[in-house]
Amino acid sequence: MMIFSAFTMHIIEGYISSIFLLEYGKGMLLFDSGCINDVKRIEDYCRKVLQRSPHDIKLAVVSHMHPDHSGGAATLRSKYGIAIAAHKDVDLWYSGWGGALQHKLDCYMATGVARRNKRSLERILFKPIIHPDYLLHDLEVLPGFEDWAVLHIPGHTLHDIALYQQKEGLLYIGDMICNVRGRMFLPLPVLFPVRMEQSYDKLAALDSSTILMAHGGVEQSDNASALFLAMKEQLKAPPTPLMRKIRRLSVFSPEIKRQGL
Ligand SMILES: [Zn+2]
Repeated sequence: MMIFSAFTMHIIEGYISSIFLLEYGKGMLLFDSGCINDVKRIEDYCRKVLQRSPHDIKLAVVSHMHPDHSGGAATLRSKYGIAIAAHKDVDLWYSGWGGALQHKLDCYMATGVARRNKRSLERILFKPIIHPDYLLHDLEVLPGFEDWAVLHIPGHTLHDIALYQQKEGLLYIGDMICNVRGRMFLPLPVLFPVRMEQSYDKLAALDSSTILMAHGGVEQSDNASALFLAMKEQLKAPPTPLMRKIRRLSVFSPEIKRQGL
């Protein structure tokens, strides 16, 4: 738990990713929605730890469509009326037959990650189209939580967003950096390396001091820019066999054709 002037931040350990729940006086804000089986974890955290109803969550932000980020969103909305905010192009990612195939492959690969993390097998299949209540654009603010700015940071997918709270120097970056036991890795896959470089530059230009990662938790840094620029350097290294394999399994979204990959 971390206490800031306007809110208290809680970290819920999800099935695969860390989920950030921010408690404001006016209601709660969620980054991201976790896997579909994390709805139970979010419910339990609200009821048992915070002694609050999940109905008090007013907005769930989906940073991108991967199963450990978007999987819980539609269920949270249908059970508790929680609005969903995501980049305007989010529902194109898993559209059509190519998108349907990619969605299945991503669920399969996410299950592999859970297994490597020694999690027991749970069902994570979810509906691939989420129909966000709020379609976000670059440099907008979050509806109802206007202290958070939205940044479009494509590269991992085409529709990734980061969230920046200038007052506290807080930056939620979704999958842009994966912290594994203190070592910083690129997300898998990086589908659009040139866009990814630009996205790291964009993040490096911010004055952030606390980085919130879906994989690896919280990183306090007095030189966050250097961290993002080091990630940019990593893009130049030759891909490992695992990176090549994940990439081969990640090229079926119609959005990839649209981008001309
Ligand atoms: Zn991802």
